[in-house]
Amino acid sequence: MKKQFIAGNWKMNLTLNKARDLAKSICEGLADSNTVDVGIFPPFVYLKDICDILQSSNVFVGAQNMSMEKSGAFTGEISGEMLRDIGCTHVIIGHSERRTIFKETDHIINSKIKSALLNGLCPILCVGESQKERDTGKTDEVVDGQLSGSLENLTSEQVKGLTIAYEPVWAIGTGKTATPDQANEVHACIRNIIRKKYDNSTAQSVRIQYGGSVNSNNAKELLGQLEIDGALVGGASLDPDSFLDIVSGAVRHA
Ligand code: PEP
Repeated sequence: MKKQFIAGNWKMNLTLNKARDLAKSICEGLADSNTVDVGIFPPFVYLKDICDILQSSNVFVGAQNMSMEKSGAFTGEISGEMLRDIGCTHVIIGHSERRTIFKETDHIINSKIKSALLNGLCPILCVGESQKERDTGKTDEVVDGQLSGSLENLTSEQVKGLTIAYEPVWAIGTGKTATPDQANEVHACIRNIIRKKYDNSTAQSVRIQYGGSVNSNNAKELLGQLEIDGALVGGASLDPDSFLDIVSGAVRHA
């Protein structure tokens, strides 16, 4: 049985006090439920506080990005070792905003994943097509290219520990969600790509989240799809009631 994994990407939002309150509300709302994995991804500067608040809870804390470098003269960067040192367990890598605004390539994303794994962090690798790529029938090809580049030279054991987030760029922050069928179809394609590159057990082990305007109204149906193992939630993760509603819509798949 695979547990669903619901992750909240807070992006560049909140003040320290609001971030602390949100973390506490999520933790209290979950009580000691452990049927779903839940993780939150606050901005870097709040991570240590949130890690301390959630230390003895079952909520994972992770970063929204990290450096591919180990240490040294990289002004403004944060390493995997630093994240691990303050208590993070996860890191989002290759979010579409990093790919488009900060020009991160699959090669950079591949180096970041390797560095995360070396530091004992569990990466959430984001992939997904633009509206134009979907309209021209290129979704599968785009996702295949992103996975090939991002997973280069990773072993099947390493890939088994990853979470992949399918996030169609046209659905992120737009209020436009992929239909459950559309999302399920691309998830099945991603699993097939992993099966071809590795093997069936790797394809079955890797968790694939859907991300893109997930909210408390659409989560249950999306999460009920066979190939969907969780959600990466942006906007709706900033409201504790919405986020907890999404968590309660998560089900287990065999
Ligand atoms: C995201 O930031 O990964 C995301 C999916 O955002 P939203 O839920 O706001 O579309």
